[in-house]
Amino acid sequence: MPKTVVLTLRPDVAADARRYEPLAARAAGVAEQDIALLRVVKRSIDARQRQPKIHLTLELYVDREPLPAPVHFDYPQVGNRTEVVVVGSGPAGLFAALRLIERGYRPILLERGKPVLDRKRDVARINRNGAVDPDSNYAFGAGGAGTFSDGKLFTRSKKRGDYNKALQTLVFHGAAEEILYEAHPHIGTDKLPRIITNICRTIENAGGELHFGCRVTGFDLHDGRIVGVRCGEERIAGAAVVLATGHSARNVYETLVHSGIRVEAKPFAMGVRIEHPQLLIDSIQYHCRERGPYLPAASYSLVSQVNGRGVYSFCMCPGGFIVPAMTDAAQSVVNGMSPSQRNSPYANSGLVTEIRLEDFAALRDEWGELAGMRFQQLFEEAARRYGGAAQIAPAQRVADFVAGRASTTLPSTSYLPGIVASRLDRWMPQLVAQRLREGLRMFDRRMHGFVTNEAVLLGVESRTSTPVRIPRDAATLMHPEVRGLFPAGEGAGYAGGIISAALDGERIADAVAAYVGGV
Ligand SMILES: Cc1cc2nc3c(=O)[nH]c(=O)nc-3n(C[C@H](O)[C@H](O)[C@H](O)COP(=O)(O)OP(=O)(O)OC[C@H]3O[C@@H](n4cnc5c(N)ncnc54)[C@H](O)[C@@H]3O)c2cc1C
Repeated sequence: MPKTVVLTLRPDVAADARRYEPLAARAAGVAEQDIALLRVVKRSIDARQRQPKIHLTLELYVDREPLPAPVHFDYPQVGNRTEVVVVGSGPAGLFAALRLIERGYRPILLERGKPVLDRKRDVARINRNGAVDPDSNYAFGAGGAGTFSDGKLFTRSKKRGDYNKALQTLVFHGAAEEILYEAHPHIGTDKLPRIITNICRTIENAGGELHFGCRVTGFDLHDGRIVGVRCGEERIAGAAVVLATGHSARNVYETLVHSGIRVEAKPFAMGVRIEHPQLLIDSIQYHCRERGPYLPAASYSLVSQVNGRGVYSFCMCPGGFIVPAMTDAAQSVVNGMSPSQRNSPYANSGLVTEIRLEDFAALRDEWGELAGMRFQQLFEEAARRYGGAAQIAPAQRVADFVAGRASTTLPSTSYLPGIVASRLDRWMPQLVAQRLREGLRMFDRRMHGFVTNEAVLLGVESRTSTPVRIPRDAATLMHPEVRGLFPAGEGAGYAGGIISAALDGERIADAVAAYVGGV
């Protein structure tokens, strides 16, 4: 059995891994030369005191003790096995495909967008001249919405084994080993594309298929069972269909409704993105003027209740960039991403509030179960009107927003298409504006200096979660009325974030195996 050693170190000491061995040997009471392996299993920062500290948990193996086996994944050949259609190559679709291979099924993965390299060019074009390809953008294409992101890997999942396996799968495909032990692991947008490409390669090498540029436009149903999907004129058959198309695929929800397949309106969240100078967030969180070379860009996570509704920060990106995340040029939608070093001079985060069914009840008569989606769309279209062509986003300084004043100037921003001053508090739904304003006041009490005119709000952060659920039976995880249809991931309403979507994809693949094995 390895010994577990916990060290609490100054950031400059923790930054030098050569110092661990003598310190760990002393703490464990063993001779340094007897250590066969010393590995970090957890690292976290404690910034509650004036002087931040790093907590390190280490596993120490002494000589002659069996060492842990390196993690390895063997994906069997499935080229001639039963085919399962997987729609969408986001984390849910990719992890469903990998798990199907492990279970001996052949995934046929259909993705409306492009492979990573081509997608990179389309994403650059949105930033350069505002041209949005509706099939290839920050939401759509290889790897889904997570490819150009911060790559934070948090989950509230209680199943540690699944979580560790998901992280190990990412490491196996090229992620840095640190994600296995960091308390708040993240990958970074500069590293994610290669990992996604490697996962796609694993699927193809095992005999699975990947079809890019294949937008699913219809479902083939027979006698209450799905037998395949349509991409334009082409029909693609499979023993089951995993539908993992993410929360931005509005046409998928519409196609489901038109095909008579039940979906349900659900609560979601929306608001704006907030951006501060990173130096300001560092000084608040680390109680110092400058964080120095040994601490990472500081982050925050804020939650409060305003009139019984949640207001919270979401997907915080320290040292990051705000990006244009619309899937259509008629919308203004923003989101955030960071490079692995988190070294931009800006800190951004979503700032959103809960939207419940009663908030969009007025749209139910016309839009039925898609009323929340319509509410979200109207918000994005208003932002586009008050922003500008070429994805210029409407913006207001934070203290001005809270005080209900126009901003006559705007601070610099990481958002490449640019920003234009706008009274966000006037045109957004009042229920959203009021809750965000009150929430900001509360956050300022917790992080003194958070409400400042050095910070800016950009519109709008609308794609935090899906406004539509595709129901599934609790036991079989299939759609209750369509046998063989397995809704998965964030778009189906069962996940939020890269890891939870990936874990849901794996779970769905196991449910598919149980169904197909018994068909
Ligand atoms: C800029 C940005 C930053 C983010 N940062 C983080 C982060 O740091 N950490 C985190 O946990 N989460 C982050 N997220 C959220 C995260 O990316 C999503 O929660 C996650 O990707 C959801 O996975 P999914 O597989 O369910 O769906 P998605 O990733 O949305 O994938 C769905 C896929 O389906 C495809 N598709 C859609 N319709 C069709 C169709 N008709 N036919 C064929 N294919 C179709 C899409 O092109 C897409 O590739 C971020 C999102 C964005 C946009």
